[in-house]
Amino acid sequence: MAITKTDFMRGMQCPKMLWLDKHRPGLKVIPPEVQAKLDAGNAFGDRAMGMFGPYEEMTVYRPGTTVPDKAAMVQRTQEHLAAGTPVICEAAFSNYNNYCAVDILRRTETGYDFYEVKNAPEVHPQFVRDAGFQYYIMARCKVKIGKIFIVIHGPDEDNPFVPVEVTKEAKSCYKWINDHIWDLNRMQKSPEEIAAEPGPQCSEPYECWYYGYCHGNGEKNQ
Ligand code: SF4
Repeated sequence: MAITKTDFMRGMQCPKMLWLDKHRPGLKVIPPEVQAKLDAGNAFGDRAMGMFGPYEEMTVYRPGTTVPDKAAMVQRTQEHLAAGTPVICEAAFSNYNNYCAVDILRRTETGYDFYEVKNAPEVHPQFVRDAGFQYYIMARCKVKIGKIFIVIHGPDEDNPFVPVEVTKEAKSCYKWINDHIWDLNRMQKSPEEIAAEPGPQCSEPYECWYYGYCHGNGEKNQ
């Protein structure tokens, strides 16, 4: 596979971060509190799959592993789209090997709406860009996407799934993504390490897991 949603967002935060992910992932240090947040986000996403009732999940693992078999997921998704399955979770798409897996697709009269689930109390700009990347891949795969929602974590724990519509903002990311995705594709394959001076991108919008490697001491800037 070429560029995933995560690759794109990380590469746009810092190209060196993407290069290190591909070539030297062993240098990554994920703080325990960040890992706990990621785990909580995954658990929230799993719960959200049922927010519209019965659903079909597209996740397929390589035999004997917990590594997703992306090609098999893409194939399975195509079968469910052709069958008109009403709610499809972890729907996978690939275009020139660029790849995304969409949290929830919900069939409408004209195609599908899609829902990106975030375990956060409000919509942040990077969430909209995430959704925009998925829209880009699906649009290039000729999937008819109507509305786009970010599902945030509301205050009612009995029903915490609150969809916020971001259709216009997410669809407007199409050109920005097309303007960068091919450069990121080329760059991640570079045999030479990408040079980048440490700066604000080391903490915004996300703390970089290579902070110690690039700063030489593992300590945050003051
Ligand atoms: S620490 Fe900073 S310069 Fe190094 S990879 Fe991360 S974002 Fe890039």
